[in-house]
Amino acid sequence: MKKSKKIYLDYASSASVDSANPGAIHELGIKEKSKLENARKNVADVLGAHSDEIVFTSGATESNNLALMGVIEKISQTFFPHIIITNIEHASVLEVCKHLEKTKQAEVTYVPVEENGIVDPKKIKKAIKKNTILVSVMYANNEIGTIQPIGEIAKEIRYFRKHKTSIFPLFHTDATQAINYLLIKVEKLGIDLMSFNGAKIYGSKGVGVLYVKRKTPISSIMFGGNQEFGLRPGTENVAGVVALKDALQVVEKIKEKEVKRLTKLRDYFLDQLNYSKILTNYRIVLNGDLKNRLPNNINITIPKIPSDLLVLELSARGIYISEKSACKSGDGKASGVIKAINPNGNENDGSLRFSLGRQTKKTDIDYTIKSLKDILKKLKKWYD
Ligand code: PMP
Repeated sequence: MKKSKKIYLDYASSASVDSANPGAIHELGIKEKSKLENARKNVADVLGAHSDEIVFTSGATESNNLALMGVIEKISQTFFPHIIITNIEHASVLEVCKHLEKTKQAEVTYVPVEENGIVDPKKIKKAIKKNTILVSVMYANNEIGTIQPIGEIAKEIRYFRKHKTSIFPLFHTDATQAINYLLIKVEKLGIDLMSFNGAKIYGSKGVGVLYVKRKTPISSIMFGGNQEFGLRPGTENVAGVVALKDALQVVEKIKEKEVKRLTKLRDYFLDQLNYSKILTNYRIVLNGDLKNRLPNNINITIPKIPSDLLVLELSARGIYISEKSACKSGDGKASGVIKAINPNGNENDGSLRFSLGRQTKKTDIDYTIKSLKDILKKLKKWYD
């Protein structure tokens, strides 16, 4: 049948003609659904996964919440579960665990990382108990950029499972900061669940992924429709998902080159920090391991000078970075990560995070170093 006119009378489903609800069974809905499913297939391909293992969410916070709470929800009727995480996880893992403890839904072991910001897989192994259902270790830390030995931890977990002929513990990783730079093939990593978002991969904010390996016991933690295999109710964010898919494909394509380029730039930055006379007067401390860190991350402490003051001085020169203030300030911005790697550190010392990206050039680093020098010279008389 030839259709000359198109009349959209499905505004209650989605109030926009050019983006119908992918759940609708009419022509426009089917087109939208096919964009969604194509994106799912493409994302799965990049991860070396199956399409039905890709759950789209609103971001990494939701993916992490779903991973932890969803597994608890599924099995907590059968026994009292135990979870293992590290003490430098993102708040969207850490706070879920605190909530689960407070509401007596689970017991949690917080394995401390070593001074270099990396967890010892043996310590994870030692923490596994009969009732451990989940181990969650972030792939790379968002503050200090340290890369965790995910493959080795997976090996310890596999050994335990085999020995006990159990499917537990499951292994989840928050890979949000790792996607741009590290291996993300789920089989090779040996993980059951993996979270990430669009925002950190040059996609859009407000969209994320939870990879869920087939047969993983997990329930929805929200209630409503049966979208996303019943794990994540709500009309799908098709535009966001398509943007995430496009971004992920670009990331994979340029990863090797970009890792090389940024590693060089990062090491140049560090050299400049080390060799600059003015800066050495201030005994700058690099937080986190020098080698096993993301190619785009530099996190330093400049003792005695409040980190927020440095951020504002840099901002006044057009340089925008992140900081974590001193632990004792208790303003919600304090860095648990810096405290975890340096428990005896001076409580007044905050940290500065310089994170490089696709637009960063050598001249940007030169300007940043020069500005830091100027700022420290200016502040010298106050803090010397
Ligand atoms: N995990 C890590 C490691 C992150 O860096 C972030 C973003 N800061 C999140 C989770 C949360 O991501 P989203 O904002 O998409 O919820």
